[in-house]
Amino acid sequence: MDFNLSSSLFSGEQQFNAFESGKIYDVIIIGGGPAGLTAAVYSLRKGMVTGLITRQVGGQMAETAGIENYLGYRYINGVELTDKFHDQVMQFGIDFENNANVQTVKDGLIKEVVLDDGRVFKTRTVIVASGKLPRKLNVPGEKELTGHGVAYCAICDAPFYKDKKVVVAGGGNSGIGAAIDLARIATHVTVVQRRDRLKADKVLVDKLKHYDNVEILLGHAVREVAGKGKVEAVVAENRETGERITIPADGIFVEVGSIPNSGLAQGLLDMNETGEIIIDEFGRTSKEGIFAAGDVTDVPYKQIIIACGDAAKAALSATDYILSNPNF
Ligand SMILES: Cc1cc2nc3c(=O)[nH]c(=O)nc-3n(C[C@H](O)[C@H](O)[C@H](O)COP(=O)(O)OP(=O)(O)OC[C@H]3O[C@@H](n4cnc5c(N)ncnc54)[C@H](O)[C@@H]3O)c2cc1C
Repeated sequence: MDFNLSSSLFSGEQQFNAFESGKIYDVIIIGGGPAGLTAAVYSLRKGMVTGLITRQVGGQMAETAGIENYLGYRYINGVELTDKFHDQVMQFGIDFENNANVQTVKDGLIKEVVLDDGRVFKTRTVIVASGKLPRKLNVPGEKELTGHGVAYCAICDAPFYKDKKVVVAGGGNSGIGAAIDLARIATHVTVVQRRDRLKADKVLVDKLKHYDNVEILLGHAVREVAGKGKVEAVVAENRETGERITIPADGIFVEVGSIPNSGLAQGLLDMNETGEIIIDEFGRTSKEGIFAAGDVTDVPYKQIIIACGDAAKAALSATDYILSNPNF
């Protein structure tokens, strides 16, 4: 086949337009993180009339200090990767709303996306890619030292703690999973758990017991992350006696759950007990014409590459839905 490079959709220019209230979109994507931006590229390249509404561009990716597991880049920081994703979307021309919050979606053959400033946009399909937020400890030092030893994703950041001492806050499945990952990398791991027993599945707890560099502090709550410019220690309090201990540490992994940004679909879409939107292998939700992808869904392993792959699927499914629907 004779490839003509000039036929690429890339124009070299950034193009985006404001949303139009009279227009009927083929797809409106909610969320401008890795999932939403990938869905946009797939929809636009399929010729769909596409709009994207987001509170902020990049989502959690933009908050990430260093990324080593998104293929094509040995190491890239989150802001740089966000710029590259954003550029790739903009070259195709899209209706784009940044700093905007979707309040709710109203179902129907033509759906309505309602913003909290009162504007309403009409669309044949919706892709919900609104992500999640890691739950915080809300203790002194946590915010200041985020990215300087305070971490929220063990799959992502554990390899940076080779031969270091770390604390894991949380004794549920994600906390114990993180502790197992870290025990193989760090010199010492202290798990701090508020309750007087671990909440994780027995199989994980049994596995953790194989590591002799792991200590478990039950009935303790993290009260402070201490350090100048980087984490140096974690202060934990015995919840019964009030006694405080200082644990020397190079990092703390906060594994106390996450909050899916699924409120906009509350009462509309089926969700699991943690508020994640339930999808099938095509990215379809419980409502026809509404798709979802990325961290807001019940898909396991919250990672950029996974959010992107699932978003590509959701966008292709949305296109197929429109093309095969005799009402459109
Ligand atoms: C500290 C940290 C480090 C990480 N490191 C890595 C790593 O190294 N490698 C890796 O693969 N993964 C990493 N991750 C995980 C990765 O960032 C996520 O899996 C990925 O960002 C999920 O993409 P998403 O698009 O589904 O959601 P998000 O990134 O959460 O993006 C969702 C977007 O939707 C917007 N939004 C939410 N609600 C609304 C609304 N109502 N209206 C409009 N917009 C809305 C948000 O503002 C946000 O922009 C890390 C995560 C964290 C927290």
